[in-house]
This record gives sequence, structure tokens and C-alpha cells, in this order.
Amino acid sequence: MEHPILQTTIAGSLPKPAWLAKPVKLWAPWALEGEALTEGKRDAVRLVLRDQEQAGIDIVSDGEQTRRHFVTTFIEHLEGVDFERRETVRIRSRYDAQVPVVTGAVARKQPVYVEDARFLRSETTHPIKFTLPGPMTMVDTLYDDYYRSRETLAWEFAKILNEEARELAAAGVDVIQFDEPAFNVYFDEVRSWGIAALERAAEGLPCKTAVHICYGYGIKANNDWKKTLGSEWRQYEEFFPLLQASTIDQVSLECHNSHVPIELIGLLKGKDILAGAIDVATDQIETPEEVAATIRQALNYVAPDKLYPCTNCGMVPLSRQAAVGKLKALAAGTAIVRQELSGP
Ligand SMILES: [Zn+2]
Repeated sequence: MEHPILQTTIAGSLPKPAWLAKPVKLWAPWALEGEALTEGKRDAVRLVLRDQEQAGIDIVSDGEQTRRHFVTTFIEHLEGVDFERRETVRIRSRYDAQVPVVTGAVARKQPVYVEDARFLRSETTHPIKFTLPGPMTMVDTLYDDYYRSRETLAWEFAKILNEEARELAAAGVDVIQFDEPAFNVYFDEVRSWGIAALERAAEGLPCKTAVHICYGYGIKANNDWKKTLGSEWRQYEEFFPLLQASTIDQVSLECHNSHVPIELIGLLKGKDILAGAIDVATDQIETPEEVAATIRQALNYVAPDKLYPCTNCGMVPLSRQAAVGKLKALAAGTAIVRQELSGP
């Protein structure tokens, strides 16, 4: 590892090049097909690797260049879900969506992202991170006409995720992160089965395990929801003590420009903290000093060797220019604090 303290990383996605998919858009359809699409995805991975490395990001990822959506693309590779049939459900109690239907036992026929992980590993010498959706967030994007139990379906997904994660780790992935934005909404379910399902997904992995919990991309439905949350966002308080007691190594959370009281980090004693020092809901690029200020605040609650400066969430809805600027700001702000910590 290049730096023993304050290693920088990102929460997940990065914008795609316009020749691969329409920019500044979630769920953008691919602009290529067949062999050209396969090659295009790989070229895009090379580009985002270069952007991260040149910016000075330590633990790099593929920026989710090979998937259209962080949850759906994974589920599309599974058996038991009918994407032709659609039912309307309310996603995270926030907005209605026409979603695919679980019509039979869910199963993973073959590896989903393992080839992508091998490619990523072959293209960089940095430690690499790979993201997967969390079981509860997967359940929350589907209509279940088979198990008719969110808990049972989550458990089945957890087993599938674990199979995939074990193969990703074997392919050389250093950190596997499960994205569980649904944890910020369904507190009773988090308590009764959400944490257990997450631990099942991460069971026995030889690499670092992480969970990312955020307030979503900067899209309208999320921004409207955020307006209802009041001046202090204390949702994390509901389940951080449970995560603290869990087997998960790292927690990725929102900090900068968020209404999350930063002292909630203190509830995660012993865990690695991926602190969001970059706001993904705006194209405005943070100054290195703003990033440094967030890191200094976080350092009041976590030791420097356990703090990883990060983004609040994925950056796919931003322009490429803004995303690259933000990567650079993240690294530059971190460098300021590293310098301070190393002392005169
Ligand atoms: Zn997020």
C-alpha cells in the first residue's frame, strides 16, 4: 500500500464515456452492442482506472463501467426473476417503479462479475475494490410472487452474493462492498434480518468487507425525500450499533454537505470508516481545503489508520469533468491532512 494512513477510495460508480452510454443519466442504455460493447466496457474501465490513479486515489475500482445499474444488472444475471413481467412497487418508500417479478427459486447460473474483476486486477497494481448490491436493497427493487417473504428472499440473495463474492476475492479483489441504501429506510427489518443477511453475504471472505449506506444519488426523488428529513439526519443512529457489533470490516457513509451529525461515526468503534468527503449531488467541485476539513472532523471520532477518505455515493449522474475534478480534490485534501499528521 502506498500510504499507511488515510487511504483514499470511492463509494462506487463513475460517469461513463458518451460513446458507451448517455452521460448524466441513471440506467442509460448502452450505445454499443455485441463485441463492440464488450470492448467498449473494457476501454471505459481503463479510462476510469487512469483517472483514479492520476488523481491519486489509492484503492481503485472499475467505477461500475460494466453495468447499467448497481442492483438490476446483478439481478439480470440470476434465475428466478422475470424481467418481462412488471409490477408496481414503492422503492425505499420514496417513488413508484415498475419492477421485475420473482417467479421462481432465485439462483446464480454462472459468475456475474468475476471476469470483470479479473480484468480490473490485470489492469492496475493498486488495491482494488468491487461493489455488489446488498440483500435488502435487492429485495427492495423487486415484486416477490414466489417466496412472498422479504426475509426469505433476502436470505436467498445473501447466499448467492456470497458465492459471487468468494469468486471475486479469489480473482484478487481486496475489498468487497455491499451497497445497502435500504438500511436507511427499513429500520425494523435491518434489526430483525438485514444485518444477518448482510453478514451471510460476507461470510468467510478472505478480503476486506464493506457496507455502503447513503441517502442516494442526487436525483429528484431522493432530493425531495431529503427535504422531509429535517435539519439533522440521524438515520444511521438506528443501526450503526448493530453494524459495530457485526462481522463487516468497513462502513461507507455520507459526511460532506450531508445533514448527518459526524459524531455518529463514534458509534462504529473498531470499524474502518469510509467517510464521504465529496458531495455527489452537485457538479460543484470541492476545494482540497473543504475535503481536508471533513477529514479533520472525522478524525475526532476515528484513528487515521482506520479512516478512508471517500465519496458520499456513486458519481454516475455527474459530468466526467466534475467527477475527475472531485477525485483530484479528494486526493489533494487528503494529502493536506496526511502532511499535518506527519508533523513538522
Ligand atoms: Zn450510495
